[in-house]
Amino acid sequence: MSQQTPSIPSPLPVLGQSIPYDRFLDCVHCGLCTASCPTYVETGDENDGPRGRIYLMRAVVDGRLELTNAVRGHLDSCLDCRSCETACPSGVQYGRLLEPFRVEMQNHVTQSSHEDSSTQTRPTRIRKPDWFHRWILYGLFPYRNRMAWALGPARWMQKLKLDRAMNALGLTKLLPLRLQRMQAQLPQLRAAVPELPEFLPAKGQRRAKVALFTGCVADAMFRHVHWATARVLQENGCDVVIPRQQGCCGAIHYHNGAAQPAMNLMKQNITAFQDPSIDAIIVNVAGCGSMLKDYGHISEELNGHAASGTENNTAPAQTFSSRIRDVHEFLDALGPVPPRGRIEAIVAYQDACHLQHAQKIRQQPRDLLKLIPGIQLKSINEPELCCGAAGSYNLTQPDMADRLGRRKLSCIMETKPEIIASGNAGCSMQLQAHLQQQGLAIPVLHPMELLDLSYQQKPVSSLR
Ligand code: SF4
Ligand code: SF4
Repeated sequence: MSQQTPSIPSPLPVLGQSIPYDRFLDCVHCGLCTASCPTYVETGDENDGPRGRIYLMRAVVDGRLELTNAVRGHLDSCLDCRSCETACPSGVQYGRLLEPFRVEMQNHVTQSSHEDSSTQTRPTRIRKPDWFHRWILYGLFPYRNRMAWALGPARWMQKLKLDRAMNALGLTKLLPLRLQRMQAQLPQLRAAVPELPEFLPAKGQRRAKVALFTGCVADAMFRHVHWATARVLQENGCDVVIPRQQGCCGAIHYHNGAAQPAMNLMKQNITAFQDPSIDAIIVNVAGCGSMLKDYGHISEELNGHAASGTENNTAPAQTFSSRIRDVHEFLDALGPVPPRGRIEAIVAYQDACHLQHAQKIRQQPRDLLKLIPGIQLKSINEPELCCGAAGSYNLTQPDMADRLGRRKLSCIMETKPEIIASGNAGCSMQLQAHLQQQGLAIPVLHPMELLDLSYQQKPVSSLR
């Protein structure tokens, strides 16, 4: 009988190898970013602020600090909102430190050598995603058809008010905690609308040919926003192409450190949108737009990462990213056709972090909303602070997400709004959940929905 040679575990990669060390050195520890960091503002703990987190990552890379559960906790509690980038006078690319660091953290699991798991840990093996990541974050959310299938019964339950009955009877408490959280965060779902066709022609003189990115969760839950966006683009003289082969942008995976599935989705989207006759690829969800604009440098980092095992060819990703435009950015540059329909309402505009910080788009949505006759646009306090949605953060860090959600809503309510406008599906869900908790019936709409209503000369009450 032949004896098997015992396998020798391969050495773990040293953390931080995919990050050029100079990026850490850009931080001069001035602390000017701390007041704009939502987690620091809430906890007052330096380790929950950008300067502290950069220090922690660098210390781990230098080998001066072990990647303990406590260190992980401070890094996991970061929203990746990039408010610190906007505030930083030294141009620190915080997202380009944290995101690749998280990918590398995913390849390490911490194992306590003491009873107290917050101290003295060492990397031992690949960290496996738990059931929630495997089945929900990675197995459900990135697939629009699975999401649509899962939302079908939820729509009926809302319609028949069975969800309220389940809550009242305490039946939802039988669900695992994170599913309870998902159920509580689910907004009032609009009636299902048909899939967008592959092509919608421009109205009037043709000014551009664009492709629309529809994504995953956004297409399953906010398809009405895609329709509104497509109609606004048509009104502005754009042929709109909607490629069927497109998929999730990959942000769910990438921001949770799962590199290879993110790379696969990147390749799928690059192939789906390769038509050279398209002038721009339009995105109406801030989080997806930011991820798609980052494909170029993410591809560079992941290709350089030992775990990726992919060929080093980043040119298609760079080209793809250079063609991405947020819809507000695109319309503002194109020169919008003024809408005619009046909407008499006080509108509070909420800046999504991945628009204002990651994409530096602040003025364009405001300018577009101001074109609508009748709208009184209000600014809110603390516009730079995240609402706590931050992609899947809301589900993985519920306590901090709730604190920030309450804080954001109280700033918004100071303006006494009749409508809240937000350019990101995640923010919209977070705000709707907090409004619902407080018994407030204020619609949260995408700026494209308001523009669409104005072009169609329809009232807000016509939305179902
Ligand atoms: S990230 Fe920028 S603002 Fe913050 S401490 Fe470092 S240099 Fe200063
Ligand atoms: S990304 Fe946001 S939460 Fe994270 S350190 Fe920067 S400001 Fe704070």
